[in-house]
Amino acid sequence: MKSTLRTVVQVALDTPLDRLFDYLVADALTSDVGRRVRVPFGKRELVGVIVGLVDSSTVPDEQLRAVIEIDRQLAALPREVMQLARFAADYYQYPLGPALLALLPPALKRAKFRPQAPTAYALTPAGQAYCAAIPVRATAQRRLAELLAGGPVAAEHLTGLRAPLRDWLNKGLVMADHGSASRLVTEPAPTLTEAQQNVLATLLGAADGFTAWLLHGVTGSGKTEVYLRLIERTLAAGKQALVLAPEIHLTPQMVERFKRRFPDRKLVSLHSGLSDGDRLAGWLDCLDGRADIVLGTRLAVFTPLPRLGLIVVDEEHDASYKQMEGLRYHARDVAVWRARQSNITVVLGSATPALETWANAKRHRYRLLSLTERAHAQASLPEVRLIDTRTDKAALGLSDALRKALLENLERGEQSLVFINRRGYAPVLYCRACGQVSECPRCAAHQVIHRHRGGYQLRCHHCGLASRPPEACPACGSLDLRPAGQGTQKVEDTLADLFPAARILRVDRDTTARRGAFAAMREAIAGHEVDILVGTQIVAKGHDFPMLTLVGVIGADQALMSADFRASERLFAQLMQVGGRAGRAERAGRVLIQTEYPHHPLYAALAAHDYPTFAERTLRERKLAEFPPYSHQALLRADARSMAEAMAFLETAHELGRERPEGVLLYDPVPALMPRIANRERAQLLIQSVSRSRLQAFLTPWVAALREQKNGGLRWSLDVDPLDW
Ligand code: ADP
Ligand code: ZN
Ligand code: ZN
Repeated sequence: MKSTLRTVVQVALDTPLDRLFDYLVADALTSDVGRRVRVPFGKRELVGVIVGLVDSSTVPDEQLRAVIEIDRQLAALPREVMQLARFAADYYQYPLGPALLALLPPALKRAKFRPQAPTAYALTPAGQAYCAAIPVRATAQRRLAELLAGGPVAAEHLTGLRAPLRDWLNKGLVMADHGSASRLVTEPAPTLTEAQQNVLATLLGAADGFTAWLLHGVTGSGKTEVYLRLIERTLAAGKQALVLAPEIHLTPQMVERFKRRFPDRKLVSLHSGLSDGDRLAGWLDCLDGRADIVLGTRLAVFTPLPRLGLIVVDEEHDASYKQMEGLRYHARDVAVWRARQSNITVVLGSATPALETWANAKRHRYRLLSLTERAHAQASLPEVRLIDTRTDKAALGLSDALRKALLENLERGEQSLVFINRRGYAPVLYCRACGQVSECPRCAAHQVIHRHRGGYQLRCHHCGLASRPPEACPACGSLDLRPAGQGTQKVEDTLADLFPAARILRVDRDTTARRGAFAAMREAIAGHEVDILVGTQIVAKGHDFPMLTLVGVIGADQALMSADFRASERLFAQLMQVGGRAGRAERAGRVLIQTEYPHHPLYAALAAHDYPTFAERTLRERKLAEFPPYSHQALLRADARSMAEAMAFLETAHELGRERPEGVLLYDPVPALMPRIANRERAQLLIQSVSRSRLQAFLTPWVAALREQKNGGLRWSLDVDPLDW
């Protein structure tokens, strides 16, 4: 007779094999599903998650190995999250093991359980400050508990602690809620505008259960205020709210705004910039149901929330919701799926919805709500003017009209922003004698000129390779080498020459790379220590600068020529957003766009602040071309040392897909738009179908067959609903 004490558990592990692994365990319980386990794997030891119990394994008992330990100190992952991981793994054609393990905070993926597991919580009555995971003697723990029991404590008041406690505090093992120290400053909710009231009434009046809403509202129309009211209702009903924001948009400002509105609630923010300790502590607050509001970037969409009642996806069109490696999920789409599964409301908000989302609203899959005017009584939408650079020649990138406007703004003491989506000094170094341009030796790309330590440097934005610019042309020997075009650095120089008295600040990836640099810049701007900002899209998002009244846009036309069919959608969203920075409060704003195509319909729609017209027109083009959202795509990418190798793999893949459901199109393999990066040759194969279910039905067995292929140094990946080419 088989011993009843021996159970077989199915364990998901982070291995590339698309399967689960069976292990023996003496005393597994059904409640262990969703718990972490330590298991032997080959000669190693891995952390996995139990996904099921089975009566018997297909593997004979003698060959099964035993679980080393089940972590019963942590709550198991809720079933809802397990299902979410399964859905994502299936939909994105990715193995369940790595998908599931990727949901855990990094600290929980390490083999040792004890130090990370919470051994004590010291909660204040208000639940504001607490400590977790204190691997310490009881006295220190008591001391901290006493300290925290008196109420919220600011970090600086913990300085009396002995060194080890301070260390843990720094590592995030012990947490003091910094926000609680300033929690006395609360923010009264403004009276809603009539438009906001209508929107809110519709939202609250809808039947309970799943509804996906698209809240289309121009920048500054008060969408966030609507979210806050919805969250208030959700919390009042004893539920948790999950709010997603793009990485760059999840600013301390935004977190503060939520904290001020809900000073007595536990707010957790989750993003990739956190230390492992903070991330773990926040995540555990969610898992254990202590968190009321989660404010996070795309990775937060998988957060376990046992009382989830509402999901908000702010700036739902933002490309940063798409994960570009591993499990290539789109957090907005996962959010909608999660809401449906949990039978709750999801609100997608944007001034420029993704065309997929807009189409879903038009097909009544999502319900559409609109806010067409700015919420602030005095704020109006900026005036958008197109400057024809065929007649108003832009010397050094700046047209006369823009120079004049900048000067006027300076004289009035108002702030301006010059927006150019190119960092560095100039996009290319070019030989006037033979036309040779600076190529990256490792990539199919130009090397960009950067100012560097008083001189110049050539830098590749794809592989990072940096080198000194050549003295003479490597092709013809000519000394007449010139930078061509403009980058943020060159525009900064030009502006400094033109307006010597102006205080100029450049905001791009290079100047904001250092931790905290961006926050400091934002303060300088808000404190009006800056007259002219030069920046890339980094400045475009979600910041309120009331003194900013002029935005000049240069170099936008380039996106109109792009081979990527989504380029114009992106350009429109970007320009709407950057234009939205102008005139947020009492002062009217102006946007000047330099272009050689002043009559382009995209710019016309932009000048009219007319997203729907732009969307409808672009959707008609997409329909004619059978591009998404009128078809569904998946992209098989391969890269290898040689193009022949990459293409050969894709040819095989093409061959393996010979038999497929009707209506699933397999294109011929082609080199990628960027055919070489860091000496890897890249190619791709597009799969397309108007039927989502047929596409999925084709992909699953096909990907399984691809996994069987031996392919040496070749790497491949499948991207379902790709955004990039
Ligand atoms: P969005 O999220 O659509 O960009 P916000 O909710 O951030 O808009 O609102 C834009 C600005 O208008 C903010 O400064 C906000 O405080 C203000 N605001 C929002 N709603 C109101 C209102 N009903 N009355 C007055 N000001 C408001
Ligand atoms: Zn030359
Ligand atoms: Zn390169």
